[in-house]
Amino acid sequence: MRLIRTKAALATAALALTMAACGDAGDDGEAADTPEVEVEENAADEFDEGTRMRELAEAGSINIGVKFDQPGIGFKGATDDIPQGFDPEIGKILAADLGIAPDDITWTETISDNREPFLESGEVDLVIASYSITDERRAVVGQAGPYYETGQQLLVHADNDEIEGVEDIKGMEVCSVTGSTSLDNVKAEGAKPRGFDTYSECVDQVLDGTVDAMTTDGAILLGYAAENPDELKVVGDPFSTERYGVGYSPDAPEMCEWINEQLTEAFEDGSWEEAFEATLGLSDVETPETPELDPCQG
Ligand code: GLU
Repeated sequence: MRLIRTKAALATAALALTMAACGDAGDDGEAADTPEVEVEENAADEFDEGTRMRELAEAGSINIGVKFDQPGIGFKGATDDIPQGFDPEIGKILAADLGIAPDDITWTETISDNREPFLESGEVDLVIASYSITDERRAVVGQAGPYYETGQQLLVHADNDEIEGVEDIKGMEVCSVTGSTSLDNVKAEGAKPRGFDTYSECVDQVLDGTVDAMTTDGAILLGYAAENPDELKVVGDPFSTERYGVGYSPDAPEMCEWINEQLTEAFEDGSWEEAFEATLGLSDVETPETPELDPCQG
């Protein structure tokens, strides 16, 4: 097992954060307000021939599917070059172990409904996109982790005092995203579900009063509420457990152990926490305990 050398990078990350506070830019062209990763040298030699990790390390590039519309988790504004958020940071940590620098990562937008198809077709190498681990998904693609746990909650207009929790949504119009666990869960709670392709479409419906509430993972909702604190609020206790995993191709089962090793190291050397605090942590989401990883199957 190889060590990702991110410990040394933490000092650099602290410096990068200080520079960000001063409005300075990093020397690699990246925004300076995210932690830096230390990219492995000669990474390909560390992996067996025929493994997907070796192929990616030899290619020197990787295509990672992330969300583009979830502040704090995976977000790319119209004028941004690259997405920002906890999920892209996890992607950078994994890519660094393959010898791939952040600048050599291709970021592809994945919406909830196309994550399995994109992994099955090879459109992307990994999906790191608020991607809850479920048995149904694991029947068609690989999912390693979890690297984060959250739970489904509700987002309502700040002046809505009718909905205080999941017990109040029976018969209410509640939007979420097609292909998400959130839409299925809210149907089961007796709401009138409204499915959209993206969460940004859904949040617009709450803002203009077309629907009563939006529902998805609390971490996602807190990001939207933090962007519109006068107009939106998150209500109620979490009513599901969402365990975010890293999706990989069903044809590359060897990726599971490698992803788990890298996540374990990131949990232990502080780079996971650093990534969290520079992203989701800025939306008032408390840094949680590191989750327990599922063993890889077979
Ligand atoms: N985590 C849930 C899921 O994977 C909801 C968030 C999302 O759609 O990305 O379905």
